[in-house]
Amino acid sequence: MQENKTFPLDKVPLGKEPFHFSCHAGVSCFMSCCKNVDMFLYPYDIIRLKKCLQCDAESFMRQFTRLVSGDQPYFPAVMLKLNDDPEKSCPFLGQEGCSVYADRPSACRTYPLERAVDRSSWRGRGKDYYFLTAHSYCLGHNEPEKVTVTQWIRDQKLHDYNSLNDAWAELDTLFATNPWKGEGSGGPKQQMAFMACYDIDGFRRLVIRERIFERFRFKKSQIEKLRNDDTVFLQFSFEWVKFFLTGTSSLPLR
Ligand code: SF4
Ligand code: SF4
Repeated sequence: MQENKTFPLDKVPLGKEPFHFSCHAGVSCFMSCCKNVDMFLYPYDIIRLKKCLQCDAESFMRQFTRLVSGDQPYFPAVMLKLNDDPEKSCPFLGQEGCSVYADRPSACRTYPLERAVDRSSWRGRGKDYYFLTAHSYCLGHNEPEKVTVTQWIRDQKLHDYNSLNDAWAELDTLFATNPWKGEGSGGPKQQMAFMACYDIDGFRRLVIRERIFERFRFKKSQIEKLRNDDTVFLQFSFEWVKFFLTGTSSLPLR
């Protein structure tokens, strides 16, 4: 099917054609992009990083993040807190490079691509578009190696990140409608939603204490996974927040 989609700033999405890019310790700009970087962190980034660092979500949030006003006024955005050194280094930057490489955030994995999802086409399913982006100091674009978008997504293990980030984007769209009503931002409902999204360990303790799993038709094996698998629990948390705010979600009510 021929598509006539247009994109802001006349950006042209990449197709199947490969682009030049390679990042490795031999480029003279190595680690430049890990300094003075404005980076948003999403809920799935948090669970990957806190697992890598073997700390709980609340400690991670306190030590490594700061809250800012994001694209919409009704829910704060979470950014990486940089080191207080002259170069404003990423706190995970080590002597040899990234110390959390296997669990590095979405933004670090996706570069040099930018991803946009069009949810209006393709029979309700989102369609991904990828654009090439380049920092002025990044010499990876001058390397001889070529790679396609499909290879990049596979090599950077982006599938789980994209899937959880899409679920998060859907929830953030709900937050942008001011679902807190009379409470306003920062009220008890927003604090509960923030905990469910970003303090997964604290929210899991609350769910278990309040026997919230029992309100839904879960099999024993599902409850076992919800108790032990952060990714599965994050998916539950997103759906629970929808249920909490709107009364509807995909969760199987008893
Ligand atoms: S600036 Fe580009 S090539 Fe250099 S380390 Fe960062 S991503 Fe790699
Ligand atoms: S998480 Fe790793 S790759 Fe990302 S900015 Fe920090 S040190 Fe660099």
